[in-house]
Amino acid sequence: MSSSPPLDEEEANLRVGQPADHAAGVKAVRLSLTNAVQKMGVRKTVRNLRTLNQHNGVDCMSCAWPDPAGHRHAAEFCENGAKAVSWEGTRDTVGPVFFAENSIESLAGQTDYWLEKQGRLTHPMVRRPGGTHYEPISWAESFALIGEHLSGLASPHEAVFYTSGRASNEAAFVYQLLARAYGTNNLPDCSNMCHESTGVALIRTIGVGKGSVTLEDLHKADLIVVSGQNPGTNHPRMLTALEVAKRDGAKILAINPLPEAGLLRFQNPQNARGVVGKGTGLADKLLQIRSNGDLALWQAIGHLLLKKEEADPGSVADREFIEAQTVGFEDWAESLAEIDRDAILAATGLAWEQIEEAADMMATSKRIVHCWAMGITQHRNSVATIKEFVNIALFQGMIGKPGAGLCPVRGHSNVQGDRSMGIWEKPPALFLDRLRDEFGFEPPREHGHDAADAVRAFRDGKAKVFIALGGNFVAAMSDTEVTAKAMRGAELTVQISTKLNRSHIEAGRTALILPTLGRTEKDETGGRTQRITVEDSMSAVHASRGRSEPIGTLLRSEVDILCNIADAALGEELDIPWGEFAEDYERIRERIGRVVPGCDDYANKINNGGFTMPHPPRDSRTFPTQEGKGVFTVSPLEVMTVPEGRLVLQSLRSHDQFNTTIYGLDDRYRGVYSGRRVVFISKADLDELGFDNGEIVDLVSEWEDGLTRRADQFRLVEYDTPKGCVAAYYPETNPLVPLDSQAEESGTPTSKWVVVRLERR
Ligand code: SF4
Repeated sequence: MSSSPPLDEEEANLRVGQPADHAAGVKAVRLSLTNAVQKMGVRKTVRNLRTLNQHNGVDCMSCAWPDPAGHRHAAEFCENGAKAVSWEGTRDTVGPVFFAENSIESLAGQTDYWLEKQGRLTHPMVRRPGGTHYEPISWAESFALIGEHLSGLASPHEAVFYTSGRASNEAAFVYQLLARAYGTNNLPDCSNMCHESTGVALIRTIGVGKGSVTLEDLHKADLIVVSGQNPGTNHPRMLTALEVAKRDGAKILAINPLPEAGLLRFQNPQNARGVVGKGTGLADKLLQIRSNGDLALWQAIGHLLLKKEEADPGSVADREFIEAQTVGFEDWAESLAEIDRDAILAATGLAWEQIEEAADMMATSKRIVHCWAMGITQHRNSVATIKEFVNIALFQGMIGKPGAGLCPVRGHSNVQGDRSMGIWEKPPALFLDRLRDEFGFEPPREHGHDAADAVRAFRDGKAKVFIALGGNFVAAMSDTEVTAKAMRGAELTVQISTKLNRSHIEAGRTALILPTLGRTEKDETGGRTQRITVEDSMSAVHASRGRSEPIGTLLRSEVDILCNIADAALGEELDIPWGEFAEDYERIRERIGRVVPGCDDYANKINNGGFTMPHPPRDSRTFPTQEGKGVFTVSPLEVMTVPEGRLVLQSLRSHDQFNTTIYGLDDRYRGVYSGRRVVFISKADLDELGFDNGEIVDLVSEWEDGLTRRADQFRLVEYDTPKGCVAAYYPETNPLVPLDSQAEESGTPTSKWVVVRLERR
């Protein structure tokens, strides 16, 4: 990437202290309110936070954690939700004067944090071929320019339509309709980079690519397993659900390389115990597993559970359920009859007794919810690991029963809803058939590009136009240099955005920035107050309506922008009423109701407060798989090894960060302040490799293609992490993840398994 952030300055400011032993607390409230008032002012802070996650309010644009069905607390949000709202609601703006004063080359030298911090985009802007600056352009000319480019392509497959997980269901539905009416399934999204492995594994084994629990199930569980997930930073209100379950006697088994504060203790600022007491202890057992050890661990647990069942039939397995509702049990049981204990200990880095204790917790629990996130999904063998979670859930009958189930926790607020609405490069035939029947055109049937394939297509000159509905594709994707160069080769890039980011800098020869409304802002498209809808991590769908005045008079809603692009690109070609859709989103919801499986009578259900999408395994213990049953699967255990002197790097977020958005330079849960270029490393590795705590190093990744990739100038921070496993923040470490390093079957970048060496500066 052509950016060269001021590394020396950042290093000079960086401070490292002690990691926290708990998450949240009164400090979290103070920090989030101070930050909100600084960014938005008092009135806007009150207006936005008072309605956040309330019935008929605005849905938090950050993570996809669900809201309680009934009573909601007056402050139904977390520190990071407040940060997200403040980030969007800032009074700072970026308009034509800013762009006249800042060339694209000068912006390239700024950090991602600095770029977004400048404020909200207010005007449509264009960088014309050879231009050094963005300059203003009218909306009409913007749409005409996009229409011309799309009309001029040799094939519709030369266009790529990317979506970030913040887009509403209405925008997502219109967007996929636009792409398919145009003629392509090139609809990559941020799911490709995060929970794709979950979707692939769950569709194969239970027939639905979504979690099988509700919030109520989490409250009622007697064991909650949290695998490869850091709820304190990434889904903070999950801590409240964990606290409810703990108070009812539940146990928590946490499995993660780092002892994250949010796995240890929760000081809930909304109750006395959290304000003046010590809060609630969370993990009853924390297994600090080596990166990529999860498949081995769960095969070992499966083996131990099978042995217990053999010794005392009916004590662990749900025999009736296995017999009636599943296939493949015998093969799975046989595959785990004997295990290679040495291989398992090497892969997990755990003692055998720890694995036995975890198996005991599983065996003695009656209602188990298994939660997981990116620590599981971003490995080469992620799909196999998640299938192993399912094997054990099927064995114990932990699907479709109150207080039990599978709970992949989604990152971005509507990433699950966007998939439901058809944002998928591999759409099911049923969805396409219904789209055809509703709109009277034959949608393309061949699969489109996922995120990595999209980069390859631009790199190889096979794609020409990139349209992004939100997000920051260049920063989010792996192999940053390759991705940035690929994007620079595009004929046209269009970014529908709220804030300036790296993807506006590493952009096509013609580059458009189209400023859009944030979720907290009033949407009065078509002269009426519009609502949008979203689906959370547990399949609950509901409306959201912004209350604040838009930051600029020229902003348009995502739906309005997309309908205008469709009009410019497709005109009257098809009988699709783009204008009516933009005037009244209710018209879109009526179509969603007729096209999207599980959304019958969508508009009415939304008007009546929302609904939960059907999920046959959860609702009726039926499985819409090829076999019509829950499917046990067998996965070979491959222990991934690392050459001597090398380490495995996992990328992760700081506490002041949501995906690629960096709210600040602190990570107080891990004791890092005013900087981000750190590598968390064990004392054993420091000693063995001959480095000192605090030393500055460059990270060099090594990959099968023989190429090395570098990320320079990181401070080594001694930390409690398994030997051989280090961690550092993304997007700074994304340049180290090769584009072709992807999970088997799902294609997810393997951001939790990057082999690196440290180089002394
Ligand atoms: S838990 Fe997630 S959705 Fe809820 S307020 Fe926090 S960031 Fe927003």
